[in-house]
Amino acid sequence: MFQALVERSSSPAVPGAAEPPAQLSRRTALGALGAAGFTAAALAGGRAQESKLVVPALPQPAPGGAGGLPAGTDLNGAGFYRFKLGGPGGFTLTLLTDGSFPLGGSAGPFPMFGANATKEDVDAAAAEAMVPPARLLGHVHGMLVDAGSGDAGRVLIDTGCGSGMGPTTGRLVRSLALAGITSAQIGAVVITHAHPDHVGGLMEAAGLGLFPTAQFFAAKAEVDFWMNNPDLSKSHLDLKMKDAVTMTAKTIFSQLSEGAMKARFHMVADGDKVIDGVTFTAAPGHTPGHGAVTVTTAAEKFVYLTDIAHYAPIQFPHPDWHVAYDTDPVQAAKTRRALLTKVAAEKTLVSGAHLPFPAVGYVRKEGAGFAWVPRVWEW
Ligand SMILES: [Zn+2]
Repeated sequence: MFQALVERSSSPAVPGAAEPPAQLSRRTALGALGAAGFTAAALAGGRAQESKLVVPALPQPAPGGAGGLPAGTDLNGAGFYRFKLGGPGGFTLTLLTDGSFPLGGSAGPFPMFGANATKEDVDAAAAEAMVPPARLLGHVHGMLVDAGSGDAGRVLIDTGCGSGMGPTTGRLVRSLALAGITSAQIGAVVITHAHPDHVGGLMEAAGLGLFPTAQFFAAKAEVDFWMNNPDLSKSHLDLKMKDAVTMTAKTIFSQLSEGAMKARFHMVADGDKVIDGVTFTAAPGHTPGHGAVTVTTAAEKFVYLTDIAHYAPIQFPHPDWHVAYDTDPVQAAKTRRALLTKVAAEKTLVSGAHLPFPAVGYVRKEGAGFAWVPRVWEW
């Protein structure tokens, strides 16, 4: 999953990083914004007209090039999905896609998925899910939770990959703009964990400045882990990937812990409030401070499951299979089963960072595992 990131890790050091040579690319969020082609007002309706929204340009396939797509048609739709939680007076939630990339490799999803099973079992699970084993496509999303109380009530869950993981990702800020919101209108950013597909958006040229008035939230357990010689011995990632991931986390948390940023950085634990109705829910294992986000209105509850699963068609039926991205695969599998059991039993509406777009639905208990039940798209 992080391969593209590693391949780009020879880019120049990040200026201002307190920790040693962060080699990740910080290429151009604002550069892309400046070079943007079109305003979101045309796409997002009148609401956007006064906010000087500019949609970041994306690398486009050449006409007749990859996939045979003409330039400008690389997104199927606008890249976001907005829905109401709790009816009138409730929250407005918007799933924001960051893009997608291939998971596993040409040999199939094993051992990236199911290192504690066999290749035959994992390939059979892919076949059962109607997925060609060498063509797994991982989606990457963030989520905007809007309490309807202005900027302070807008919570962004994660910031996507930024430009560090290749041209098929890094679209989250653009998806946000298409939904009619600028990053300057975000009151809080929840960092569910410090992996590059979740904090990459903060590694851009503008860095934390992309969110000039936001408060930032991350688990204390996550900060403590990455800032103190993280033990990645149980992870199945290779050494280069471990280094790249560690460097990203250290860079972000160093910047959040310094100078003026310090006052805007809040370290949280299970159950802590982000804003009224939005709380951090500890879900350790994927990383030590990995968290879900729970949104509660008078009428309805919602849980953003974050990285409880990276590829639902394989992992939901086999929640105990290990995943290479997990810092502690045993604990992650335990957390996965516990959280999926809970939301299935309570029939809670859920979403997650890697569920299939638009990634809004339910979890159903099925056999020894679970099934993903997408909610019918509502216009
Ligand atoms: Zn992730």
